[in-house]
Amino acid sequence: MKIVDIREVTINLNGGVSNAIINFHKHTVSLVALISDQFSNGKPIVGFGFNSIGRFAQGGILRERILPRLAEIAPEKLVNSSGCGFNPGALAQIAMKNEKPGGHGDRAGAVAALELAAWDLNAKLLGEPAYKTLRRHFDVAESGVSIPVYAAGGYYYPKDSTKRLNDELRRYQELGYRLFKIKVGGGELREDIPRIEAALTIAGCGDKIAVDANGRFELQQALTMAAAIEPYKLRWFEEPGDPLDFDLNRILIESYSGCVATGENLFSLMDSKNLMRFGGMRLGKDIFQMDPGLGYGVTEYHRILKALEEFGFQRKQCYPHGGHLINLHLALGLGLGGCEAYPEVFQPIGGYSAQCSLVDGKISPSDAPGFGLEQKQELYPLMCELVN
Ligand code: MG
Repeated sequence: MKIVDIREVTINLNGGVSNAIINFHKHTVSLVALISDQFSNGKPIVGFGFNSIGRFAQGGILRERILPRLAEIAPEKLVNSSGCGFNPGALAQIAMKNEKPGGHGDRAGAVAALELAAWDLNAKLLGEPAYKTLRRHFDVAESGVSIPVYAAGGYYYPKDSTKRLNDELRRYQELGYRLFKIKVGGGELREDIPRIEAALTIAGCGDKIAVDANGRFELQQALTMAAAIEPYKLRWFEEPGDPLDFDLNRILIESYSGCVATGENLFSLMDSKNLMRFGGMRLGKDIFQMDPGLGYGVTEYHRILKALEEFGFQRKQCYPHGGHLINLHLALGLGLGGCEAYPEVFQPIGGYSAQCSLVDGKISPSDAPGFGLEQKQELYPLMCELVN
């Protein structure tokens, strides 16, 4: 058994939306394919992965550094010990040959796209959905086939922003979502408060609304926002300040009784450990959002889960960033608290396939093998183009 070819392509994200910091108009993602020498119905079995959302495609790093390293090694080095699949951790390790530690940036997403494709491939070789493969591999207890999901959106639009927010959340509600996340910090506090209140009217209570500042605030601004939203008892206040300013996070948490969520811009075990050590995160309360697709893949993410548990946190406190099929399988397969969804934005990657079932705020993947990306209508033609 071997991987006979690895391909990558940059795809455009459909994202004419803004948060407090950036506009997603020109964002891209790397889609990768691991083509195996195994066949099903006369076609090669192929694993697909991508580097989540929000950090651009990494074709340069893949082509110039990582793929040449993988081409140099004997193919059997990527086969797992059972001989029935591939070893995603070994693949990630080879991809990182001669890379210095620390400074985890774009390469963490490049490696992740490949590592995730290896999980998709393994699940397809076994003919099962990826969450089952992950549960077995990491010895995670069975816990049903559905998981809580929240609809992330509430971006800023140049015109009629609050009205569009209202309409957007109502559409999500009709689809079956019960929890929502909206952006804050894109303008003045006096503009955000009516947005939050509009969202509360639709959701029914604060526990169903989270707000995300995308790292926008300095300490004093973050404290001001926290004081202003505290009475609403929101589900969480996300990324109040710079994602690497653990002191800001700690000080904010000391003065804010609600939950804080952060971690989507931490790409390694060590960065995550620093958040656990210095960020003031509370056991059983605050939310960790590290995203395997931005941080070297599942192997590294599992190390982070182990570290969290050693620190006394629970994996139910984890809601990975990135509302797409890959993270749905990871959240379900690794026993996390829940997952995100982008029902309307970031196509062709964002959101779930029509075959997923969403009932009263909980989502289940279909039983398609792997991550089921082939059932994502907008993505499937691009996958076919990459391998044909
Ligand atoms: Mg966020």
